[in-house]
Amino acid sequence: MIDLRSDTVTKPTPGMLAAMMAAAVGDDVYAEDPTVNELEARVADRFGKEAALFVPTGTMGNQIAVRVHCRPQDEVLLEASSHVYLWEAGAPAALSGVTVRTIPGRYGVLDVADLEPHLHPDDMHSVRSRLVSLENTHNRGGGVVYPLDKTAAVCAWARANGLATHLDGARIWNAEVASGVGPREWARHFDTLSVCFSKGLGAPAGSALVGPKDLIAHGRRVRKLFGGAMRQVGFLAAACLYAMDRHVARLADDHTNARLLADAVRDVPGLALVPPQVETNLVWAEVSPELGTAKAVAGRLKEQGVLAAALGTTVIRLVTHLDVSRADCERAAAAIRGLVR
Ligand SMILES: *Cc1c(COP(=O)(O)O)cnc(C)c1O
Repeated sequence: MIDLRSDTVTKPTPGMLAAMMAAAVGDDVYAEDPTVNELEARVADRFGKEAALFVPTGTMGNQIAVRVHCRPQDEVLLEASSHVYLWEAGAPAALSGVTVRTIPGRYGVLDVADLEPHLHPDDMHSVRSRLVSLENTHNRGGGVVYPLDKTAAVCAWARANGLATHLDGARIWNAEVASGVGPREWARHFDTLSVCFSKGLGAPAGSALVGPKDLIAHGRRVRKLFGGAMRQVGFLAAACLYAMDRHVARLADDHTNARLLADAVRDVPGLALVPPQVETNLVWAEVSPELGTAKAVAGRLKEQGVLAAALGTTVIRLVTHLDVSRADCERAAAAIRGLVR
């Protein structure tokens, strides 16, 4: 099976496994795991921030950020299809007592003009506008790179209005490779960012929250509260270090392979790429009724040895990653073209 459901399905490579086996470990709750400490220092430096916190998942990284920036009765401004709102199980409300203002964007991208009308006045009747959260690359937006000039403009507007800023950078690595804009240039606009090692980079688990020392220290208390303080997790941190050192540049291959799949999608009447251009490793397509439901299309691809994700009744997603080769994607492209009978 060629598994294109997600870039989370990768298994550790032999080199990564060897690095994990060789890791020096200790109790990270005592801050005594040397590999976790190294990872936190290296990630902070890579993104030009003071500190970082190793967390089990991207969801926890984002939700610790919500918690350290906000208090109950505060509001987060974010794009309507952002992961923090759509795919994190209602956590801002459940874990932090904050509301979210969901603002429809264009493939996940918001401009200052989209945000401006949603800033609440300082009034006891209102929630307090407190945090702007952006996502890069934007998953539901189709793997779109959030343009740097828009990033800078939104964050400058937020700061001018006393709002904190957070970036869900689960796939910031893909944005770096696709745009040529480096990690510090992306990160410097935000107070905090979260990054995932278990998506395109291929680690089995692990994310980090990156930001100023005081917020990360607060985040460490919240991580304990959320149940994410772990013990000898240097084994995982070693996989993350390995992934960060060796699996970023190769994301360019995933992007090339995704464009190959996108070309096949374009050849199928009844499938429409949304957005029409594929910038990174995510290929989202709308299925028209003449072709059947998303589930039916995924079923037909599966018969040809290709796993696609049916997300909702009319949308499929294909994702390239470390464990699918150029040849796999050529076979998958043929299977997609085969949907035309
Ligand atoms: C996957 C993902 C996350 C984090 O997901 P976890 O499964 O909790 O690690 C966060 N943001 C985006 C955009 C993602 O795609």
